Amino acid sequence: MTITRFAPSPTGSFHIGSLRTAIYNYLFAKKNKGKFILRIEDTDELRSNKKFLDEIIEIFQIFELDYDKLEYQSKNINIHIDFLEILIKKNYVYKSDEGPYKFKVNREVDSFSYKDVILGLIKIPNENIEDFSVARSNKKPTFILSNMIDDHLDQITNVIRGNDHSINTIKQIMLSQALSFIPIKYAHIPLIHDLKGKKLSKRNNVTNVSGYIDMGYRKEALFNFIIKLGNNFNDIEILDKEKSIKNFELNKTVLSPAKFDIDKLNYYNNYYLENLSYDDFISCIKKETMKKIKNFNIKEVFKPILKRSFNNEDINNELKNLVEFIYEKKTYNILKNEIMLLKQIQNTTKESQTYDIFIEKLEKNDLSFKKTGKLLRKILVNFNSKLPIESIIKFFGIKIVNDMISAITENE
Ligand code: GLU
Repeated sequence: MTITRFAPSPTGSFHIGSLRTAIYNYLFAKKNKGKFILRIEDTDELRSNKKFLDEIIEIFQIFELDYDKLEYQSKNINIHIDFLEILIKKNYVYKSDEGPYKFKVNREVDSFSYKDVILGLIKIPNENIEDFSVARSNKKPTFILSNMIDDHLDQITNVIRGNDHSINTIKQIMLSQALSFIPIKYAHIPLIHDLKGKKLSKRNNVTNVSGYIDMGYRKEALFNFIIKLGNNFNDIEILDKEKSIKNFELNKTVLSPAKFDIDKLNYYNNYYLENLSYDDFISCIKKETMKKIKNFNIKEVFKPILKRSFNNEDINNELKNLVEFIYEKKTYNILKNEIMLLKQIQNTTKESQTYDIFIEKLEKNDLSFKKTGKLLRKILVNFNSKLPIESIIKFFGIKIVNDMISAITENE
C-alpha cells in the first residue's frame, strides 16, 4: 500500500511552497488509495514553536487535508538513538574528532546515485559527499537520521518533498542501506520562484499561506492555484479536490522552478468568487460592513459584485462604496438641467411600486438609463460605485430611490 507523509518542522510560518508539498503528498496517497501521515518534526527544541504547530493544524483543517495519522517526531527520539547505536556497532558511524557522530561514506565507488521520480537520475561524484553528521556529540540525532528512521517506522513508500532535500536523500539512502531498510521512492519538487526567476522571498512577496488567507483569498482558489504550479493536471484549469486526485500525475511535475504569478491566483479567486452561493457571499461580509448595508437588498448586488471582485476585500469595498455617500451626508453640486431631468423622472415614476414598473415608465417616456443613468448614479452613490445602475436601484429599492429624488427636487 502507498503511504506518504508531510513532515513539517514547526519553526516558521507555513510557506506557500510547503502547502503544495503537503497537497501533492495528499493527492498521491488518495490517488493510490493509500495512507497519508502528518508528522510534526519537532525535535529542534530551540526553534520549534507551538504557534507554528497550531498554524499547521489549522491550515490542514482549512484545506481539508485529512490525514490517517498525526505524529510527533520528538516521541521517537529514543528509537532514533537505538538505531544510532546499531550504526555505531556496525562501524558505519564513528565519533569524529570535532565531536559529532558521522556516517562513514563508502570511498570505494566513483559516485552515488538514485532515480528520482521527478528529477530522473541524480548522480553525485564520491568526492562531493563528505562524511556527514548523524548525531551530535551527546548522541542527539540530526534531521537526516531522525527523518529517515521515521520514514522507515511509518512504512513510507513515497517521499515527496522540496528540491532542497535532494542531497539529503543521497545520504539517507546510504543510511537506509546500512540498516537494510526497504527502499523508498523519492520525488523532489522544484522550488517556487517569483516572476523574475528568483526564489520566493519574504522581502518581496507574501510567502506564508495565512497571509493569503488573511488577504481574503478563497481556499478553493489557493488550492487550485498552488497545485497547478509546476504540474498541469492533464491541462484541466479548474480543479477541485476530486478532480485533482483523478488527474494528478506526480512524474509529470515539471523540472524547472514554478513561477508564482499573482495574476493567476487572482484569476482563480475571481472564478471561485463568481460561483459563490448567496450564503457564502454573505459570509464574506465583515461585521462593520454588514451594519451599514443590512437594510438594503443585498441579494440584488451579489452577482455583479462577485463578477468584479478578486477577494473579500473587494467585496467589502464594493458594498461600502454603495452606501458611503448616504452615510457621509455630503452634498453635491446639482445643475439646473439635472434638476429638470430629476423632476421629469419623478413625475413619470412617482407611482411605481416595483423596479419593473419604474423602468417601464422611464423607457416609455424617453427617459431610459442611457439618458438618466449617469444622473441617477450621481444622486444615489455620487459615482462611488461602478455597479450597473439597475443593480444600484434594486439594492436601495424603488421607495428609497424616489425619496432621494424628492429630497433634491423639493429643496429647489
Ligand atoms: N522537516 C523537514 C522540513 O521541514 C522535512 C523534509 C522532508 O519532507 O523530509 O524541511
